[in-house]
Amino acid sequence: MQDTVIIKGKEIAEQILSDLAEEVKTLPSAPCLAVVLVGENPASMIYVRNKIKKCAATGIESKLFALPDDIPENELEDLIQNLSADENYHGILVQLPLPSHIDEQKIIAAISPEKDVDGFTPVNIGRLALRQDCLMPCTPLGCITLLKTVREDLAGLNAVVIGRSNIVGRPLAQMLLNQNCTVTVCHSYTQNLPEICKRADILVAACGRPYMVKGDWIKEGAIVLDVGISYLEDKTIKGDVAFEEAVGKAAAVTPVPKGVGPMTIAMLLQNTVKAYRMQTQGKK
Ligand code: NAD
Repeated sequence: MQDTVIIKGKEIAEQILSDLAEEVKTLPSAPCLAVVLVGENPASMIYVRNKIKKCAATGIESKLFALPDDIPENELEDLIQNLSADENYHGILVQLPLPSHIDEQKIIAAISPEKDVDGFTPVNIGRLALRQDCLMPCTPLGCITLLKTVREDLAGLNAVVIGRSNIVGRPLAQMLLNQNCTVTVCHSYTQNLPEICKRADILVAACGRPYMVKGDWIKEGAIVLDVGISYLEDKTIKGDVAFEEAVGKAAAVTPVPKGVGPMTIAMLLQNTVKAYRMQTQGKK
């Protein structure tokens, strides 16, 4: 039976935020994040409220732009362009999803890459692929940060990522490649998924299928990160990994909740401070 470390994402995120709060105190002025929320999607409203609360606790200013559901695409694009040009804002966050009449990619592309604290613009995704310094997507960046708490050097490890979305799977695969892992990306068309998972030294599940990854898919001693969040009918929250089966098999595993989730906000605020530094460097 393998001893399994439970990776305490919530505690690690809290430590990062408290270090960040100390760092913010040393800056000549407070970084400021523009938060753009379109419509009244209840989940989005909760996420936005949490992000604003964490900003305040960390000494980062934020301003909420709450816009009506039927805002025309060109008006939203104009706002993003104005925020991109406005020196008072160092970061711009557009809460997704946007209403269906708005082209999400068009709006994301309007964010200045230097203020793109979600790391979603084509410029930052391109920079990541080219191994250039950039603002990186928060959830995958949180995954890499958690991995490093278990093992500093990831070079040569077999990493398997389940999921290939633009916000999690794809950028995470790129980041793992940049860490010199041998990366396999799996998705809904992948065949023999359990067999592929069994070869993973690092297994990341990000597909939104509750408890899909069983204990016998996990190689003894693997590091397992569970990004998935599913709200079941009985109101419980489940990850993509059968957690109880991973314990005793994996060397380390993240729980759901209190695993990868809290890292996403911590990385968002870390990116906001990084964006501030990028924009103010050399300015008095
Ligand atoms: P998505 O729906 O955009 O992508 C899911 C991916 O999983 C797709 O690439 C799909 O091909 C793959 N997939 C689906 N079913 C599969 C199967 N049976 N076998 C193999 N691959 C399969 O989702 P997303 O936005 O990438 O999010 C994934 C999960 O992570 C969701 O549960 C989401 O709630 C969660 N999430 C968590 C955080 C966090 O902060 N912890 C952030 C973002 C997303």
